[in-house]
Amino acid sequence: VLPFGWRRAASLEEALAAAAEGALPVAGGTEVVPWLRDGIVAPGELVDLSRLPLDAVTRRSDGGLALGATARLADLAAHPQVRAGVPLLAQAIAAAASPAIRHMSTLAGNLLQRTRCPYFRAGPGVPCNLRAPGTGCPARTGLHRTAAILGLRDDCIAAHPSDPAVALAALEAALVLAGPGGTRAVPVAEDLAEVVGAGELVTAVHLPAPAAGARVRFLKVRDRAAFDFALVSCAVVLPAGGPPRLALGGVAPGPWRCRTAEGELAGRDATPDRVRRAMQAELAAAAPLEANRFKVELAVRLVVRAVREALA
Ligand SMILES: Cc1cc2nc3c(=O)[nH]c(=O)nc-3n(C[C@H](O)[C@H](O)[C@H](O)COP(=O)(O)OP(=O)(O)OC[C@H]3O[C@@H](n4cnc5c(N)ncnc54)[C@H](O)[C@@H]3O)c2cc1C
Ligand code: SF4
Repeated sequence: VLPFGWRRAASLEEALAAAAEGALPVAGGTEVVPWLRDGIVAPGELVDLSRLPLDAVTRRSDGGLALGATARLADLAAHPQVRAGVPLLAQAIAAAASPAIRHMSTLAGNLLQRTRCPYFRAGPGVPCNLRAPGTGCPARTGLHRTAAILGLRDDCIAAHPSDPAVALAALEAALVLAGPGGTRAVPVAEDLAEVVGAGELVTAVHLPAPAAGARVRFLKVRDRAAFDFALVSCAVVLPAGGPPRLALGGVAPGPWRCRTAEGELAGRDATPDRVRRAMQAELAAAAPLEANRFKVELAVRLVVRAVREALA
């Protein structure tokens, strides 16, 4: 039995006060509940954000959109402004989890989910630096087929599992955080798992105005078609006349912006050969292990295909 307190916040102020006292936020609960069950967290108190009025999609003065942090993934993917204005995000959400989970899951909860590394999710007592710092990283010599190949840390090689985060990175979205120090906005980028400070809550995700005439495509490769986490995913934004924006998922500790490949492609037509060479340059920095070496070529091929489909 794990005793903990629970309170439902009726306002953002109430939620922030609870978070400042150390309460763990819970929104859809599709991550937090398994964490409680598996002993990954043992909070003294939970603060339930699910009834906060933070689930709207609104137009911003610069023409972009503000997506409420507690908006459910299914509602976002079906929202007319998202479908028409941010089809890349709608595609990424459609590829994430199952319909039942998308109906429970919130946008912020999805971005702040933890790795699916089997050691992290195993019971207490299994070594894992992320769960118990200093206990080691058995994935390096053990099960690492789904682990990261880019941006590796010394102590942990886990990949971030969110699909929407990959689309949001390519769209240059920002997380809006409220906390004891006020409000701040940070890009949806590689350090997603560490971006929220103590006592902070995500209130929204801001999207800039869409680039005129941009072609977009999200693709995901997984072991199981029904629903599964990405082995590799990619999001491609090809603005008319502007530099491409490319992001990968399943390969790094967060969504991975392909800055090297983007630089190689800037000012040139994104022909399949050029995209392949640009992605090979991007993946030159990869440090795969034996069982996840396949991700290198898979990432190259997936982006080539996504660009082709975006332009088709
Ligand atoms: C079987 C299964 C398959 C899945 N497959 C996929 C997949 O293919 N792709 C994918 O992207 N995801 C997948 N998921 C993950 C799923 O999308 C996440 O579980 C879900 O999005 C988490 O959202 P939630 O609202 O339930 O989060 P919660 O469980 O409520 O919270 C998750 C984390 O976010 C924090 N949090 C939540 N809201 C806020 C806030 N506003 N401010 C600060 N912190 C906050 C919580 O404290 C917690 O740390 C899968 C999940 C399951 C169970
Ligand atoms: S990769 Fe990270 S989460 Fe997985 S065992 Fe190593 S330290 Fe733990």
